[in-house]
Amino acid sequence: FATRKIELDGNVYHQLAASTKYQGPKEKATFVTLVRNSDLYELLPSIKSVEDRFNSKFGYDWVFLNDEPFTEEFIKVTSALVSGQTKYGLIDADEWGFPPWIDQEKAAATRERMAQEKIIYGSSVSYRFMCRYESGLFYRHPLMLEYDWYWRVEPGIRLYCDIDYDVFRFMRENGKRYGFTISIKEYEATIASLWEATLSFLEQYPQYLHKNNMMDFISDDGGRAYNLCHFWSNFEIGSLDLWRGDAYSAYFDFLDHWGGFFYERWGDAPVHSIAAALFLDRSEIHHFGDLGYFHIPFHQCPVDDDVRLSHRCDCNPGDDFTWQGYSCTTKFYTVNKLRKPRNWAEHAT
Ligand code: GDP
Ligand code: MN
Repeated sequence: FATRKIELDGNVYHQLAASTKYQGPKEKATFVTLVRNSDLYELLPSIKSVEDRFNSKFGYDWVFLNDEPFTEEFIKVTSALVSGQTKYGLIDADEWGFPPWIDQEKAAATRERMAQEKIIYGSSVSYRFMCRYESGLFYRHPLMLEYDWYWRVEPGIRLYCDIDYDVFRFMRENGKRYGFTISIKEYEATIASLWEATLSFLEQYPQYLHKNNMMDFISDDGGRAYNLCHFWSNFEIGSLDLWRGDAYSAYFDFLDHWGGFFYERWGDAPVHSIAAALFLDRSEIHHFGDLGYFHIPFHQCPVDDDVRLSHRCDCNPGDDFTWQGYSCTTKFYTVNKLRKPRNWAEHAT
């Protein structure tokens, strides 16, 4: 350990810096957060948690994206917390708005109907811009182009456990391209025609359906209907090439022209999840069951005492959502013939 000299109120102290930062090769990877300036103080504990539990050991970069310029305050405060380089990107106006082919009246009528039906974010325009951006555009931002891997972080999230390995290297070395912590069922009213759109896409581009796909995770009847299962995309660790590749480029373009981001309220989570399940080899999708994760209102907390204690997790396994009825993660383990934690069934409700 190196010692460093610090000065406090004119007094000089020597401090043993307890830095055990990893010095080996790193992946071309970054954190990425789409965020408003007004989310700053909601975001800071997320960053602090990710840094304390993982990134302070590795020093990966962090890209912040916004449809408005970041304030000096935002830049100053976030860059003080991140151990890697921080980068601040402005989103092009034409990527944060309605594509020209969208019928404004039809889109407005949907928002009005969804407001009456009290569908969450149903009346919001900006939420739709956000979902479209996270679905098909974030990985094309100039600041993202130098990276191969990303980890998406949102305001208000927490990591509960120490992560003592490089998750990006883990992804590469184990042939993984999409990683999730929590899965759940989507509100059907927000994606009424997403499956119909997906089926017509597949009809037009059958070559993109992977022969070892995970259709049985997203459909219970061989692909006729979507079962609403999706990976909760407020957390994602993924390969940017997955989204930049031919299959997903064609799929996003198809969906974008279908208009469901605006005529319905398609979320980026079901869009990414369906794509990952159909275009990837099933072995390329990984459940990170060891991180411990929170995004309101669900917790992932390892239920196996050995895992939780050895990783110094500060969560209550009684709150774990993973094996509960509305989660799809039990299905994920079942269809992929993975071994569940030994006491998972005690937490299945
Ligand atoms: P929820 O998790 O589905 O409730 O949605 P959030 O409000 O957390 O939004 C998802 C992500 O997009 C978060 O990282 C937000 O900070 C970000 N976000 C949402 N709306 C906007 C917006 O209008 N502008 C910007 N720059 N970011 C946004
Ligand atoms: Mn959120």
